[in-house]
Amino acid sequence: MTNTEKQRMMSGVDVGKKRKGLLITPELCIGCRACQTACKQWNRLPGDRTVNSGTYENPPRLTPHLFNKIHFIEKNSNVGVDWLFVRRSCMHCGQAGCMDICPAPGAIFRTKEGAVMYDKKKCIGCKLCVAACPFDVPRYDENDKISKCTLCSDRISNGLSTACAKACTTGAIKFSSRDGLIAGAKTAGYKVYGENDLKGLGVTFAIRESPEAYNLPDPTYNASIAFWDGFLRPFSVIGLGAAAAAALLHYITIGPKEVEPEDESGKGGE
Ligand code: SF4
Ligand code: SF4
Ligand code: SF4
Repeated sequence: MTNTEKQRMMSGVDVGKKRKGLLITPELCIGCRACQTACKQWNRLPGDRTVNSGTYENPPRLTPHLFNKIHFIEKNSNVGVDWLFVRRSCMHCGQAGCMDICPAPGAIFRTKEGAVMYDKKKCIGCKLCVAACPFDVPRYDENDKISKCTLCSDRISNGLSTACAKACTTGAIKFSSRDGLIAGAKTAGYKVYGENDLKGLGVTFAIRESPEAYNLPDPTYNASIAFWDGFLRPFSVIGLGAAAAAALLHYITIGPKEVEPEDESGKGGE
């Protein structure tokens, strides 16, 4: 593989005009969660056991079986409570820390449409992608394999919309070419979150207030990822092995592995 080809497979890849994306417009969302259900249906994901925690937001966080969720933000207003509904899912970052730090060749890769996709058969369960993700996205299934939104790669590679966008009747989730979605949002007078962050998020947001009002973070690229890419990755190639290199990197960046209590959420890195 040439350096240019390698660069294309790594973060910051220029997928050019073929890059597809989602545009989320929270002010159009009514919190019906049809998108959550459609995602589960298409991906054949089981339900999650939950408890009533005093909020309609349910489940409370992403799980190995919940690739997108609607975050409910409550604000006091003159007439009671105002709701703001904001999607949470993988952002399909242009500069994807999860992909850069992953020591298992081919376990996380970018599709030609720009999705950050994964191959469970190649995942070694090291959970480094959890530490590298600024959006707290990757989860681990019962077999200790990565689990997250795929941008419906199996659908969009066949010319279909994502299941969540198809199910959304209000237009709060739109699927199309990323450039076109962003241009449309700006024409409609919105600010766009994610246009340039991490070399452009694949999931952008059309917003009217500051990102903080939507609990959207200011994403940063973990500096240790660059160290891994430039120094440690060759060890996994020349024979140290992906798992051993991952263990070394985990020790350097996060510390010694501890036995974790059972976690219903399936979150590997907590
Ligand atoms: S389907 Fe659309 S309106 Fe309903 S919760 Fe999802 S994004 Fe909001
Ligand atoms: S949001 Fe996290 S899991 Fe998704 S592409 Fe970005 S770094 Fe990877
Ligand atoms: S793009 Fe597909 S996999 Fe991702 S949240 Fe939407 S329906 Fe689920």
